[in-house]
Amino acid sequence: MGQANQYSHIIEYIKSLFPGQDFIPLHEPRFTGNEKKYVTDAIDSTFVSSVGAYVNRFEEMMQDITGAKYAVATVNGTSALHMALIVAGVKQGDEVLSQDLTFIATANAISYIGAHPVFLDIDRKTLGLSADKLEAFLQEHGQKRETGTINKRTGRRIAACVPMHTYGLPCEIDKIAAICKEWQISLVEDAAESLGSYYKGRHTGGFGLLGTFSFNGNKTVTCGGGGAIVTDNEQLAKLAKHLTTQAKVPHAWEFNHDHVGYNYRMPNLNAALACAQLEQLNTFVDNKRDLAEKYKNFFSEVKEVRFCEEGKDARANYWLNALLLENRAARDAFLEEANSNGVMSRPAWTLMHKLPMFRNCQHDDVTESELVADRLVNVPSSVRIER
Ligand SMILES: *Cc1c(COP(=O)(O)O)cnc(C)c1O
Repeated sequence: MGQANQYSHIIEYIKSLFPGQDFIPLHEPRFTGNEKKYVTDAIDSTFVSSVGAYVNRFEEMMQDITGAKYAVATVNGTSALHMALIVAGVKQGDEVLSQDLTFIATANAISYIGAHPVFLDIDRKTLGLSADKLEAFLQEHGQKRETGTINKRTGRRIAACVPMHTYGLPCEIDKIAAICKEWQISLVEDAAESLGSYYKGRHTGGFGLLGTFSFNGNKTVTCGGGGAIVTDNEQLAKLAKHLTTQAKVPHAWEFNHDHVGYNYRMPNLNAALACAQLEQLNTFVDNKRDLAEKYKNFFSEVKEVRFCEEGKDARANYWLNALLLENRAARDAFLEEANSNGVMSRPAWTLMHKLPMFRNCQHDDVTESELVADRLVNVPSSVRIER
């Protein structure tokens, strides 16, 4: 173990990027545009709940930003993922391939359906699902049938694959999409962290059947709580909207419902905030990319730290900047020193296969996930615009 102030040069540098702050949070929202105006307008209209002009406007903005034909607003990113998996046809007893290093919501959404998550390894460069590990898993365990792919070991249908663009760094999504197509597995992208991130010029979330986003308080743009599903498939978009609004059959006064539905529609009040935030998305992303560039240059001179950089085909939003330290002890020393000096820093999530409710789920060797989980820290990444 090193001395107590072994990382002071890094901590001082981070402080210099956020001058005049005693405490530097990991990611705080910025409300510098039309937020108050639109929220006041929503209140004045009396349409504060799940019907209102801002919800429709939010969906149109999401279509423009992502290039998807359809967008459906939801109450949060977790519900967007749950709903996307339902409309993708995932059923109780199916399997869904995802990555071991992700936020818990990815695995929870799979579990809500009664489906079984399978946790595959990530790629050390992208921090997202490894296309090679996905291919290797399917070669070893997959058996193609006319109706799709079965896992030979469990006999279950592999219904979907959910890669995640970790911290806004796009994963190898075109390769993953090609593998899913080859094996007839529905691709649902968890793009919760990657609004404003592109791969080969296309917005993340648009490479598969459906993609989902989150507008939680810590994300690049926020509306307090909110989510969205995007797709080019009209039928799935209609079904998602229907199921998220209690599956109510439209009628001037009668209450008829044709499915078990969900109260998952985004309220107009939140949508008003979301519209104002989306207007600033490009400004926020440019600002975050500028910060990432500064970190990248600084850490290129620090030999014991690797800055996690976008790949050559990727344009990341740099939602949360991530560093890899030399080992777990170095990570722990950094977390201790940064957090006790007013610089908020957090480790990666505990790997999914280590959590009690997912301990019995199938996983591959997850060697890269283990390595990254041991060494990664996130450092302050807020947009640097005065509030
Ligand atoms: C934030 C997040 C979600 C869930 O979004 P909520 O809006 O908080 O429900 C899902 N997946 C990932 C990877 C996330 O980071």
